[in-house]
Amino acid sequence: MGARPPGFADANAPAEGAEFGILGVPYDATSSFRSGSRAAPNAVRDASWNFETYLLSHDVDLTDIPIHDWGNIEDFARPEDMQGAVKEAVTAILIQGSFPVVIGGEHSLSPAVVSALKGAGAGGVGGFGIIVLDAHMDFRDQYLNIPQSHACATRRMGELAGFESIVPIGVRSVSREEMDEINDDMRGRFRFITADDVRQNGMTVSVNKALGLVGRDRIFLSLDIDCIDPAFAPGTGTPEPFGLTALDVREAIRILAPRLVGFDIVEIAPNYDNGNTAALGARLIREVIAAVHAARRKPIG
Ligand code: MN
Ligand code: MN
Repeated sequence: MGARPPGFADANAPAEGAEFGILGVPYDATSSFRSGSRAAPNAVRDASWNFETYLLSHDVDLTDIPIHDWGNIEDFARPEDMQGAVKEAVTAILIQGSFPVVIGGEHSLSPAVVSALKGAGAGGVGGFGIIVLDAHMDFRDQYLNIPQSHACATRRMGELAGFESIVPIGVRSVSREEMDEINDDMRGRFRFITADDVRQNGMTVSVNKALGLVGRDRIFLSLDIDCIDPAFAPGTGTPEPFGLTALDVREAIRILAPRLVGFDIVEIAPNYDNGNTAALGARLIREVIAAVHAARRKPIG
């Protein structure tokens, strides 16, 4: 490989007034099983140079879109410290009027993105809902005594946004204790869509169902790469078979694009990757940028 410029491919704009702001979060300290996602922001950036700047299906060239790469936040040991830095960095991106694209790192960063979006009044008077794509429910109140663990990401986001306003899609792994809490304590407030539901009904039906449940026009999309089957995305800390396809996720992005207020992609672990997971992650980011940009030319359908 020859020398290439640093940063995400085609992110050539200054921070001021950029349409999209990319942030890397090289943090994986609460990952208990297989860590490594701290290397993902730079691995995804490397992989992003593989792709054409022009996206045929959107008729969009990324070099025509003002994108700024803010680089990575620094290293932290404690998840609360990482989250503080993420909230500050995402707030800075939002102040520029940019759409935040956050590359993890592990899922524990996502509540901080939600917190920044909330603080900035994202979604206007109606606020915003959250759709999570994840193999896991991530609904534990704490994991190994750590409330900000990546295994608690959806629980923490639900506390911030309201449990009625968050729906995970692609779930196929959950503990009995989590299900007891969902059934007994949540009493129908918290809803989810399984990977089997998606397989049976298709992603279009599933996403539209999720939008109906969330009941908000504007959406933050949190993409845990392990929602996708390990056959397509092997480079992740907690691979879970019987998952979504890469095309399912692309379809979800295309449906949600007109509504998105922000996006993160988490849990890519390059040390377990053959290169394809980082490439898929980079391509999904490019899909989000192109689809959100293209959707701004037309009203929500
Ligand atoms: Mn997760
Ligand atoms: Mn997961």
